[in-house]
This record gives sequence, C-alpha cells and structure tokens, in this order.
Amino acid sequence: MAHSSDAWPRVIVHADMDAFYAAVEQHDHPEWRGKPVIVGGPSRRGVVSTASYEARPCGVHSAMPMAVALRRCPQAIVAPPNFERYQEVSGQVMEVFGRFSPAVEPLSLDEAFLDLTGAERLFGPPEEIGRRIKREVREATDGLTVSVGISTTKFVAKVASDLHKPDGLTIVPGDRVAEFLAPLPVSRLWGVGEKTLPELERMGLRTIGDVARADRARLVRDLGALGEHIHRLALADDPRDVEPGRERKSLGSEMTLEEDVVGEAAIRPLLREAAARVARGLRDERLVAGGVRVKLKTHDFRLWTRQATLETPTDNAVELERAAFALLPEFDLRVAMRLVGLAAFRLADPESGQRPLFRDEAHERRRRLDRAVDALHDKFGGEVVKKPPMDTDKHR
Ligand SMILES: [Mg+2]
Repeated sequence: MAHSSDAWPRVIVHADMDAFYAAVEQHDHPEWRGKPVIVGGPSRRGVVSTASYEARPCGVHSAMPMAVALRRCPQAIVAPPNFERYQEVSGQVMEVFGRFSPAVEPLSLDEAFLDLTGAERLFGPPEEIGRRIKREVREATDGLTVSVGISTTKFVAKVASDLHKPDGLTIVPGDRVAEFLAPLPVSRLWGVGEKTLPELERMGLRTIGDVARADRARLVRDLGALGEHIHRLALADDPRDVEPGRERKSLGSEMTLEEDVVGEAAIRPLLREAAARVARGLRDERLVAGGVRVKLKTHDFRLWTRQATLETPTDNAVELERAAFALLPEFDLRVAMRLVGLAAFRLADPESGQRPLFRDEAHERRRRLDRAVDALHDKFGGEVVKKPPMDTDKHR
C-alpha cells in the first residue's frame, strides 16, 4: 500500500459543489456562462443565496442584501432560486458520492462528508479518489465542478475543500495536518464567529497554530466550553465519525419582507404561510415535527427566536401554526420586524419511533385531508401558498 496507516488512520472526504445554485443556473442558461450571476430573491429586501465566481471579484457574497450586491455589481444577472431544480441536481451529485462509499453524510444540497477508510484497494490512494469523485460529478451533472478536501478528520477535510475553490483538490495526510492548520486564521475554526473573534484577538491568538500552542486551561477560563472545543480542533483532535444515517435536524421557511411589519396582526399571516410551506415539506419527506421555532429579525438586525415542543408530533400546517402563534406573546411585538420565519425541529419518521399512546382523532382527520390536498396539487399543479421571496432550508 502506498500509504502507511500513520498518515491515513481514516480517509475522510469533504466534497462541496462550487457556487452550486449559480452553477446550475449557468448550466441551464448557457448564455449566462462567464457572466456574473446572482441567485436570490429579486425584491429590494431579497438576500443573495449564491453568487457565481464572476460576481465575486466585485465583492458579492451569499447572505448579502440583494440591494448591496447590485450596487457592487450592477451588471449581474439576478436569478430567482429554483429549489426544485437544485434538488434534482443534488440527487445526481449524491448518487455519485454513493458510488464511492455507503457512508455519505449530506450537510446540505451540495456538500457531504464521505468515509473512504479502507477504500484505497478499490479506488487507489486519496489523490486518485479525489480525482475520480471530481470527474464522475462533472460527468453526471454535465459539467459542474466540485471542490474536494481529503484528510483524517471531518474538520480538516472541510477546511481543505474550501481552500482551493473552485474546482479544488486538497489532500492533507495525518502527518501533515499540524503544519497545514498552523498558518490559517482562527476564523477557520468551527464555532469562532463575530463574537469570539475579537476575544481571541485580544488574547493574541490570530492563527490556528496560536490556538494550538495556547494553554487549554486559559482558553477554558476565558471562553468556557468553546475554549476547549476550539483548542481540540486546533490540535486536529476531532474524532467525530461520518454519520450516514444522520437525519435532517430542522426544516424551515422564512421571509425577508419588502416592508417592515409591526404587531401580531401583521405577523400572523406570514407565520401561517410559513407553516403551510413547512408542513408540506414535512409531508414530502415523510417526517413529523416534535417542535416549532419562531424566528423574527428586527428592523435593526437583531435575531430573536422562541421555540416549543409539541405533545403530538405533526406534519399539519394548522398545528404548526397554532404552536407558533402560542409563542408570539414571548416577543416584544411593538418592534418592527424585517424577517419572519418558522422552523420545525425534532424531526422523526412518523412510522417508526415512539407513537403517542392516544392518537387524537381530529389530528388524524387533518392528516388525511392534508394528503388529499397534496395529491390534488401534485396532479393539477399550482402551489398551496405563494412562494416567499426567500426560503432557507439549510439547518441540518
Ligand atoms: Mg457549495
């Protein structure tokens, strides 16, 4: 074998499609290839989902307000998101991943971890595995590119896949991990966000190497559990396995609004619409939710969430909506809101797991009615509710 088990105790791949939504749009609209394309809600309050690589040099990136993006890149083509289509291409990509390993853990529509430990006899050394994955994805999707990182832990594989995007292939054997991580900025560590970054700066920690050399007791004293977590990551101590059976953790729908809304009467219809979309999503995926979360973003960008668990798990819009309405008194609704969202969590397969002892009859009737309505919509087209300008569904 080409690799000692010292260098490769595990072979973990992180594969991440490049500017996925924008790349799909450029594939479907050949006249957009080579041009800046921004996928996102086209309204004034829309948000950028994905920017093509041609748009990025202008400083356009995802999660940026569309108004800002278009100021920076006025010549960009704006494509409203077409999630059904992205889901279809995602299916092709995941199918390719499945050829390489039974252990595929999708993180979103366009990225996944694969465990290829012991697969070298089948596919060759890691470099060869990476090249094959890239080639087969390109063939299956008629030309889309994927960036691949391969290392011995999830964290390092993920950092590696991101380092040479687009169309990258970065291999980090176990005995090279420390030197690979050392010069990278601390912002690469999972869990280090806008809040922690200045604290680390203040502690004189700028690179992952700095964190690795820092005293763990001091990190814990200053940052609590996060301190221990990032110290472990910096030392590449990340024993987490690829979890193929991992279920989606939440399913949500949210709307960034054209105009701020104030008060319960204005928020209720938006939550109702979100509940309908989420309920339909649950039924499509044959899941029920054991909890509901309401998410509001204030006009000055403060994010407020409240959540509740449900006595009986459900995939019914009215039941989700009722739980969401019950949370509203916990918010200060005199404040103007720019975003209203609802997410279902504690997702489970209704046919397995714990069934409630007593099934509520009205609940059962509503489920049957929902199925009938879904079938009608599938047959005759049209949607239960109008699509909101933005729909995020990335919480897994
Ligand atoms: Mg991606």
